[in-house]
Amino acid sequence: MLEDSYKHKGQRNQLVKQLKAEGIKSEKVLKAMAHVPRHFFFPPDFQEKAYDNIAFPIDGGQTISQPFTVAFQTQLLDVSKGDKVLEIGTGSGYQAAILKVLGAEVYTIETVRELYTSSQDLFKKLGLEIFSQYGDGSNGWTEKAPFDKIILTAAAPTINNSLAEQLKIGGRLVAPVGSRDVQKMILVQRIGENEYERSTHGNFTFVPLTGSHGWKI
Ligand code: SAM
Repeated sequence: MLEDSYKHKGQRNQLVKQLKAEGIKSEKVLKAMAHVPRHFFFPPDFQEKAYDNIAFPIDGGQTISQPFTVAFQTQLLDVSKGDKVLEIGTGSGYQAAILKVLGAEVYTIETVRELYTSSQDLFKKLGLEIFSQYGDGSNGWTEKAPFDKIILTAAAPTINNSLAEQLKIGGRLVAPVGSRDVQKMILVQRIGENEYERSTHGNFTFVPLTGSHGWKI
């Protein structure tokens, strides 16, 4: 049963305070994090850990990202109401739910079938209209492109051109890019037909992106 108690809400408010103290400034991102029950997306046997500021193992050998990381990536993505957003790496579905609550039209791809199925079931139960697909998202989702925003929640060796080309002009892509052990958070802004601006925003560690433009594992 999906129950959101006063205790959960209190824990979320505490977490949001911590995120603020750690430098998250976007009020709308903090509001979304205060709104979405992270424990719904968390393994049932470890509910008491859902509001710790930590990444946590989920099915398929994957992880639900640390709340700070979700807030940081979402802030950098700068989502506006009505934005068409692609997420690569649905995982638990938590990040997709945050994007939806921010008013985005959300498309999300997951390569581990059990996670695709469980997140889709959860979206339905929560009444979140999120378009999800099972498969390799390392090449984006060409049939649904272009997107205002693209977010990768798995570590990519590079940003491939085909992905960047799925951005609208004026669009933003946020992705952890680097080695298997540590990545830099990269923001790519498409400022013209063939013009992109790239900036770097600190070090993070994610599970690897697999598939045709990912790591061979
Ligand atoms: N955003 C997720 C959440 O909110 O729970 C966390 C994602 S987890 C850190 C990274 C996810 O990316 C994993 O579920 C993994 O299976 C998925 N992934 C890895 N390579 C992928 C690919 N090529 N296409 C789609 N998903 C991929």
